[in-house]
Amino acid sequence: MGFPSFFSSLMWTAGSAYGASLAQEQSGRSVRKATDAQQIARDLQDRVDKLVLACMAMWELLQEKTGLTEEQLLEKVREIDLRDGREDGKSKPSEAPTPCPSCGRPISPRRTRCLFCGADNPQAKAMDTAL
Ligand SMILES: [Zn+2]
Repeated sequence: MGFPSFFSSLMWTAGSAYGASLAQEQSGRSVRKATDAQQIARDLQDRVDKLVLACMAMWELLQEKTGLTEEQLLEKVREIDLRDGREDGKSKPSEAPTPCPSCGRPISPRRTRCLFCGADNPQAKAMDTAL
């Protein structure tokens, strides 16, 4: 094996090792991303479970205190579901900004205060701002 051949063989080996190292590094990053995604999914599931529990508690209290029925609840769910024109089991909050009562600049309905002047947003709805 002449020097050029030895050199190219050495470079090929080094290149392979480097390639393998890169592949291992990318694989490690992929595993970390998957692990991060799994953790995010678990955190979201925990939050959903807590929200379901809070909703169940509120509903049972409302039934006990007011006498509301399951039928009334389901009718209200359907009414709210249809507000965006589609019965799809989802509620899409209004995204249209409204003018700030103080400075006139647009405020998202998701904001409780104007970003520009700090005035309260009278259009803010509790459920929209919580999302
Ligand atoms: Zn303002």
